[in-house]
Amino acid sequence: MATHAGHEPRPLRVFFIPFFATGHMIPMVDIARLFAARGVDATVLVTPSNAALISRTIDDAAASGLPIRTLLYPFPSAEVGLPPGAENIASVPLADAPKVDAASLLTAGDHDRLLRLHHPDAVVSDTHFAWTTSIARDLRIPRITFHAIGLFPVCVLGSLIRNLPHLSVTDDVHPFIVPDLPHPVQMFRPELPDFLRSENTAIAQAMSALNEAEAGSLGVVVNSFAEIESAYADCYYKFDNMRTWFVGPVALADGGEKASRGAAADAKAVANRELCMRWLDKQRERSVVYACFGSWCHFSAAQLRELALGLEAAGHPFLWVVRDDGEEWMPEGFEEKLGEKGLVVRGWAPQVAVLGHDAVGGFVTHCGWNSVLEGVSSGLPMVTWPLSTEQFINEKLVVEVLGTAVRAWEGFRSTEEGEKEVVKAGDVAAAVEKVMGGGEEGEKRRVTAREFGEKAKAAVKVGGSSYEGLSRLIGEIRDWPKKINGCDAATA
Ligand code: UDP
Repeated sequence: MATHAGHEPRPLRVFFIPFFATGHMIPMVDIARLFAARGVDATVLVTPSNAALISRTIDDAAASGLPIRTLLYPFPSAEVGLPPGAENIASVPLADAPKVDAASLLTAGDHDRLLRLHHPDAVVSDTHFAWTTSIARDLRIPRITFHAIGLFPVCVLGSLIRNLPHLSVTDDVHPFIVPDLPHPVQMFRPELPDFLRSENTAIAQAMSALNEAEAGSLGVVVNSFAEIESAYADCYYKFDNMRTWFVGPVALADGGEKASRGAAADAKAVANRELCMRWLDKQRERSVVYACFGSWCHFSAAQLRELALGLEAAGHPFLWVVRDDGEEWMPEGFEEKLGEKGLVVRGWAPQVAVLGHDAVGGFVTHCGWNSVLEGVSSGLPMVTWPLSTEQFINEKLVVEVLGTAVRAWEGFRSTEEGEKEVVKAGDVAAAVEKVMGGGEEGEKRRVTAREFGEKAKAAVKVGGSSYEGLSRLIGEIRDWPKKINGCDAATA
């Protein structure tokens, strides 16, 4: 509670500002709900089309009595040449993603106006919004940074940027070691996120502004849990002096209606939800392979076709979420032949509800951070199929550090669309078989995955490591006025 001179203490008021990507928005809304569940008055600042993706979750939470709401501000579509309503990386063609980034740089004025107008006790904002650190400083409130990824990828990226080990190799076929990490992490150049592969120094400069803003924040709130990443919290502190609070896996927290997370509040999403759950209810326990590649993936038609044939050849029932429109890639008579053995869902599936269903036994994932963590939380072994950004790094956590996943294919791997080689159906089927069967090794992997799932669930329970992490963070926000007033007194 914040103190209000001479009056009853009033609830803390915290503003949350998510970036315009579904994979950033979903976990930040979950974090806002977690704060609200502890009595903090939570407001999520969001643009109109993005509000449609989170309104169901927020409305449900508010209807259940939690102090949470959205506050709208405009998205500068016209200024960057995007059509009205295209406000999210997932709702624009891949080539237009930089326009969403450009638009995000134009939102500083609205953030400034709304934060000054409402003057909350703290702001939790995406790492993209560097200016919120200086606004918060002016308002004498703490800014807490949110990365949509865990500390393993944060530390790997930090080491890559600091040490540039990829410059020590002269080609794409020799690996290099990423230094200064608690585990030996080996990478190949083509696996690097595009900003590290490019010669474009503007990106490096932009990164350094973000890092500077982060350094001026109170610390970083993390959607992960100590039992898988505590060594990386230490690493982050050692190299960047950055304080962190684990509060996840946020998808597991509280009994909120999981099936509506990130889904547009429309009839198609409701129909998909019912379709998936009805189909899963008919399957045997742990028999189903769930394949989904996040909110904005892109595959070539040739790759979709091989993936379809591979899932079929693996011989396990599967639920596959396909984002691409069109059917030209689909093998002749594929769905008819499948019958009850497989379900192809177009659009959005209720992923966390699916992963939590007893029928699901394995997860084929593109290794977006949320998906990786949701797979770990559900105690499932995974087949990893990274596509872009930092996903090849996230893959290493589950394949090499935790030992709960296998790669979809070996051989050349690249974040670059034009460099990708088509992964063959036989490789897909073999990887699925390792996860769903796989003899003794497969069983060992499943046991390890279950153990991490149990640890994840324990972390968010009352008294668990992430539950306590959130308590500590709220405590720091509550004590902030005393801390800065104490500083003033000391320097007076
Ligand atoms: N998701 C979902 N249904 C889908 C696709 C994605 O619920 O059909 C959710 C998924 O549970 C996760 C988020 O969307 O929380 C995707 O985030 P992630 O970091 O895995 O991938 P990104 O979309 O950022 O690549």
